[in-house]
Amino acid sequence: MAKIAFIGLGNMGGPMASNLLKAGHDVTVFDLSKDAVSALVSDGAATADTAHDAANGAECVITMLPAGQHVETVYLGENGLLSALPAGTLVIDSSTIAPETARGVAQAATEKGLAFIDAPVSGGVGGAKAGTLTFICGGEEETFNRAKPILDAMGKNIFLAGPHGAGQVAKICNNMLLAILMAGTSEALALGANNGLDPAVLSEIMKQSSGGNWALNVYNPWPGVMEGVPASRDYQGGFLVKLMTKDLGLAFDNAVKQQSSIPMGSLARNLFQLHAGQGSADLDFSSILKLYKPE
Ligand code: NAD
Repeated sequence: MAKIAFIGLGNMGGPMASNLLKAGHDVTVFDLSKDAVSALVSDGAATADTAHDAANGAECVITMLPAGQHVETVYLGENGLLSALPAGTLVIDSSTIAPETARGVAQAATEKGLAFIDAPVSGGVGGAKAGTLTFICGGEEETFNRAKPILDAMGKNIFLAGPHGAGQVAKICNNMLLAILMAGTSEALALGANNGLDPAVLSEIMKQSSGGNWALNVYNPWPGVMEGVPASRDYQGGFLVKLMTKDLGLAFDNAVKQQSSIPMGSLARNLFQLHAGQGSADLDFSSILKLYKPE
C-alpha cells in the first residue's frame, strides 16, 4: 500500500480519496475548504496545513482541482510542489485542464526527475463514490504502469490515451459529447412533455430505443424521473455548470488551434454559457433542462 497525498477534496476528490483509504492506502489530504477536509478525517485520512505538508514523505501525489490555474498554482506557483518533491515521486493530476497546461506541468515535473501523468476522469460523482471511474491517462507507459494499481482503487476502466496531454485531449472530446447529449436529451424530454407525455415513460422508451445514451441511463435531467441524481435534489452537487462551460471552452480553444470544426460543440458551449449567465453556474450541468422547461 502506498503513502499518498491527495489535494482537492471537492465533489470528485472527496469520494476518490475515501476509496483510496478503503483500499488500505495511507492518505494525507489537503483542501482550502476545512469542511471538505473534515469529511475525509472521519474516513481515516491524516490532514496537513498546506499542500506541501501533505506531500511531505508521500510516494505519490494526486490532485483533483477545478481548473488549470489551480493546478499551476499547486505545482508551479510560489512554494509549488514540484520544487519540493523528491525525484522519483509519482505525480497524478486528475483535474480536467487544457492539454497544453498538462504538458507544461509534465515538462517541469520531468525536469525535476518526477514521474507525472495527466489522468482526468469520467463517470461523475456516482462513479467517484462507487470507485468505478474511467481514468484517461497521458504520459509514459512506465509511469502509467506505476500509477495503475493506485488508480484501480478509484476506477474500473484505466486507459493510456498517449503521451503527456493526450488524457486531457480525450477527456475534452468526451465532455463535449456529454454536453451535446445532455442538451439533446433535455430538448427531447421537453418536447415530449409539451405533447403531454410522461417524462418517465418517454425516458424509458428512449433508453430502449436508438436515442438511448448515458444521460438517460444514469443521469436523467428531469426532476423525479430517477432517484439519487442531481435533478432530484434541485440540481445540487454533481458536475457544476461552471465546470462544464470550462470544459467546453477547452474544447473550443483546442478546435481553433487544430482548425477543427465543432458546430455541435460550439452550440452546446453557447447553451451552457447562456444557462450559467442566468444564475445557474453553481447548479449541476443536467439543469440545462431549465432552458427548455422554465418553471
Ligand atoms: P469541486 O469544485 O467540487 O472541487 C474542487 C476542490 O478543489 C474544492 O474543494 C476546492 O476547495 C479545492 N481547491 C481549489 N484550489 C485549491 C488549492 N489551491 N489547494 C487545495 N485545494 C484547492 O470540483 P469537482 O467537481 O470535484 O471537479 C474537480 C475536477 O474534476 C474539475 O477539473 C472537473 O472538471 C473534473 N471533473 C468533475 C466531474 C464531476 O462530475 N464533478 C466529473 C469528471 C471530471
